[in-house]
Parts: sequence; structure tokens; C-alpha cells
Amino acid sequence: MIPLTEAQDHVLARMPTQPVVEVPLGEAFGLVVAVDVASDESVPGYDNTAVDGYAVRSSDVTAPGVELDVVGTIAAGSPVDHPVGAGEAVRVMTGAAIPPGADAVVMVERTARLDDGRRVRIEAGVEPGAAIRRVGEDVTAGDIVAAAGTVLGVGHIGLLASVGVREVAVRRRVVVGVVSTGDELVDDGSPLRPGQVRDSNRPALLALCRSSGFEAVDLGLVRDDADRIEAVLRSGAQRCDALLTSGGVSMGDHDLVKAVLARIGADMRWMQIAIRPAKPFAFGLVESTPVFGLPGNTVSSLVSFELLARPALLHAAGRTSIHRRRIRAVAAEPFRRTADGKTHFVRVRVDQDRDLGFLARSAGRQGSHQMTALAAADGLAVLHDGDGVDVGGALEVVLLDG
Ligand code: AMP
Ligand code: MG
Repeated sequence: MIPLTEAQDHVLARMPTQPVVEVPLGEAFGLVVAVDVASDESVPGYDNTAVDGYAVRSSDVTAPGVELDVVGTIAAGSPVDHPVGAGEAVRVMTGAAIPPGADAVVMVERTARLDDGRRVRIEAGVEPGAAIRRVGEDVTAGDIVAAAGTVLGVGHIGLLASVGVREVAVRRRVVVGVVSTGDELVDDGSPLRPGQVRDSNRPALLALCRSSGFEAVDLGLVRDDADRIEAVLRSGAQRCDALLTSGGVSMGDHDLVKAVLARIGADMRWMQIAIRPAKPFAFGLVESTPVFGLPGNTVSSLVSFELLARPALLHAAGRTSIHRRRIRAVAAEPFRRTADGKTHFVRVRVDQDRDLGFLARSAGRQGSHQMTALAAADGLAVLHDGDGVDVGGALEVVLLDG
């Protein structure tokens, strides 16, 4: 058995990063910026009002109760046709440009409309600059609005749109093909005959790929047939940036994925990793495309993806932060185990206690074929080799999605 970190390093060292492409901003969410994006524009682009109210000369409004002539109205987006002279005001709506002559805005709540709107009484004093959003207050032309390496989140999409960016140079989205193998598997909803099981790895892995920001391609369910497996792997390698197989990589007589990869794969490595679940794992290249041979047991395949495939695929996507967040939690119950040379990843639920911080308890039965606990889990508690952790002991927990 090899340590998890050795397996992770092996994969990372062989994982190419994605090429740089220009994509429309609307398709860039979650992608990694490849080249610094500088703004050509300032935001706001002009001085404008932060409130509905009246643009005034602050020198006219030294005390509450001043009355001014209303000489015009400016809505957001409408042109400025009235400068503000001494003793005058212009009605302005939020976002409207500040007319020349004015240096402050009084919000409408602090005014009284007089004379059918031809005059206004200002009920409060006003400081110069009040309620004015200045040109360039958010972004100044020339500012870097998204540095290379930025993972484009919701805020970045809005920021880039606000400065008129329509296309952005990013690392191309990683396309991951997912295939299931096994004569026992069924995916058509028909009643199970003895010995059959439903294919659950593929839907779960496809969902996991999508939730990690990759494009997932369903390569289907393949029988334990070497020619079929080879054909699917070869065509998948043409279409995808990486392939995930599940099942068929351990020691069984029908572990045909292993036999096929041994024949057509390059730089294949078959690993026994000192973890539980997900001990067997294979990695190599088919027609230059990385292939992750995940174990077949349902929980194992997903844990293997989390610990080995996901970080490598995020690296390919250009990310520098590739591992899930880990927290320190308190064991709310004993986490017993026996020493076996492996690190155990226990499916746990994490609650937040006001005094004790994060509390972790088992999410249910921990067999590598038992999905109920994984469905209920918020995280994987890391139990290092030994006899476990007592109630109240410290537990490191890898947080999972959703
Ligand atoms: P294998 O590594 O192919 O021997 O598979 C190990 C175990 O995982 C067996 O019990 C398989 O039936 C099960 N298994 C393999 N692939 C899947 C799948 N796609 N969905 C559900 N169970 C699977
Ligand atoms: Mg199998």
C-alpha cells in the first residue's frame, strides 16, 4: 500500500492544464481567468445620484427650510438639460447624472413639494457631495478587475459585465467522460433479476463532476467485454479531457477494465492506497487522455473521486486551491477503529454548537457499499491509523458539497 499523498502527487504530476480559450462572459462562471483583465472604463462612468431627490447647490441650503425653484427633472438614463443655478434645484431619480452647478443631492424624504412641483422646500441642511456617487468610485479605467488565476464567481461576472467585458480568456472547462462497467449492472429501471444491481456510480459521478464545475459526458454502461470497453475508452478519449471508469480495477477474474487499460493505456499505474474506503485505484493515459480507474463499490468510487480525481481535475482547470475545506470538529460520539495501516474516511454529519463549535457524529453504516450514510453526510472525518478517537476528541473533517 502507498500513502494517499503519494497517489495524489503521482496523478497531479501527470495532469496537464487546460488550454486557454476566449469564452463569452455568460459561459465563464466557475472558470479560471488565464490573463489579467484590465478595465477600459471607470465605474460609475459619471457622477450620479444615490437617491431619489433634488440636486442642489449646497451653498444655497445652509439651514433647514430653504425654498428653491425646481427647473427640471432628470431620470436615470435621460440627458441633463438643466444646469442648477443659484436658488434652483433639479428633481433627480436614483442613477441620474448630476447636473452642472449642483454639488449635492437631498433625498426626497427630506423635502416638501410646493406649488404643484414648481418649487421645493428643503427640510434639512446638506453637505457638499451628499448622496453623490463619484465617477470611478468602484473601478478606475486601467484597474485589474480579474487577475489571472481568479475563479470567476458571481461577483466577478457582475463586475466584468459592469465594465463592458464581453469575452474573457480562461482555461477551457474540463470535459469529463464517465463510464460504468459490469455485467451485473442495470440502468433501465427494469426489475432486478438475481445477481443484478443498479448502476448508481455513473449518475452520482456525473453529478459530482457537474457540481465541481466540469462538463460531464455520460459514456454509458458497458458490459464486461474487452472490445466494447476498449471502444468506449478510445472514443471517450477523443471527446473528453479526462475519463472516469468505475469497477473492474481490482483483483477479480472479470476486472476487464484493468486488462484493457493494461493493453491500450500508457504510463498505467495500479495502486493500492492506504485508505478505507477506496483502496484500489488506477491512473494512466489512453490516447494521451488521463484515465482514472475508480473502484466499483459505490461509496469507494465517490470517495476515490473526492480524494484523487477531483483535485487533479481542478488542477487541470487552472485552480491553485484544489482540495476541499477541512475543519476541526469535536467527536460527539466515540469513533472506534482498529489499526490496519490505513487512514479511514468516515462519513459524518457536522452540526454547529454555540459553545463547542463543530460537532461530528457518524452519518450511518460505514460499509463501502452503503450509500445511505454518504447521502446523509456533510463530510468525511479523517481517522488516522490507530484505535480511533474518544468522545470529545479532535477530528479533522473534509467538508463535502451540499
Ligand atoms: P468490481 O470492482 O467491478 O468488482 O466492483 C466492485 C463492486 O462494486 C461490485 O459489488 C459491483 O457490483 C459494484 N459496482 C461496480 N460498478 C458499479 C456501479 N456503476 N454502480 C453500482 N455498483 C457498482
Ligand atoms: Mg465489475
